[in-house]
Amino acid sequence: MTICMASVEDVRVEVKQARDRGRTIGLVPTMGALHAGHVSLIREARERTGFVVVSIFVNPTQFGPNEDLNRYPRPFEKDFQICREEGADLVFAPSADTMYPAHFQSFVQVERMQQYLEGASRPGHFKGVATVVLKLFNIIRPDTAFFGQKDAQQARLIQQMVRDLNLPVGLQICPTVRELDGLALSSRNQYLDAEQRRNAPILYKALQEAEQLILKGERSTAEIEKHITARIASTPGAVLDYVAAVDSDRFEPIQRIEGDVIIALAVRFGRTRLIDNVLVSSATLKSLPNHLLPAG
Ligand code: AMP
Repeated sequence: MTICMASVEDVRVEVKQARDRGRTIGLVPTMGALHAGHVSLIREARERTGFVVVSIFVNPTQFGPNEDLNRYPRPFEKDFQICREEGADLVFAPSADTMYPAHFQSFVQVERMQQYLEGASRPGHFKGVATVVLKLFNIIRPDTAFFGQKDAQQARLIQQMVRDLNLPVGLQICPTVRELDGLALSSRNQYLDAEQRRNAPILYKALQEAEQLILKGERSTAEIEKHITARIASTPGAVLDYVAAVDSDRFEPIQRIEGDVIIALAVRFGRTRLIDNVLVSSATLKSLPNHLLPAG
């Protein structure tokens, strides 16, 4: 049975009971509008932990003033149905007032890592992400929390926060789930019109081409970025926000491709902003896996 709760106190009682029954606790934090990417996280959590909590919360503090907070999809009934079908034990769906009551004023920041890529493009975004994830960890106290490689910088930033603040939680990063044409699943894909949707696979195509260049021996970050920039520029309706190669550990921009590298980009189609990344291990000349899905 899947139960849904909106209050911090109720969730704490329920999770404690599960723990007293000897279950380990898994947490899958989401903003809802669930798709197969989220489902892969829930399934992983079911395999690895005994009591799975899915949080559904469109976190206002991670949206900038001109971003899509108000139009972000909130199909709660459908989301709950998915959680039930996937065997989640508890859906935690707090209100904004529950998470940020009047006079709320405490935030956490991962200072260096939050400056680059998504952080540079969306000022304040990672302050909101780190704060809400820390709150969720404190409310639920999971043994393991599950995040997607799709948001690689976010996953790495949370890992840094866990290390820096000695948080007693394990992290599991799950591969990016994609449509068959390579487009990474995202709740924001539903904003795309038919033509934008046809062109959106260019993000992953350009990344795969970059990966090929690296595997063939290209080591100049500037050349890799130049290739991706040109591919996006020649795609109708696509506007590059950023492309960057970063060290997969420190998540800081690099000049030369060495060791494990993440190539990440953000592209706008009209008002819709999509992100994607690949992790390339230039040392072993391997790229790491993605899950491909039938479209639908
Ligand atoms: P969101 O609801 O977009 O905040 O995402 C919630 C979690 O799902 C995050 O850890 C994301 O990285 C993960 N996620 C989103 N899209 C995908 C995807 N296509 N494949 C795997 N994980 C994903």
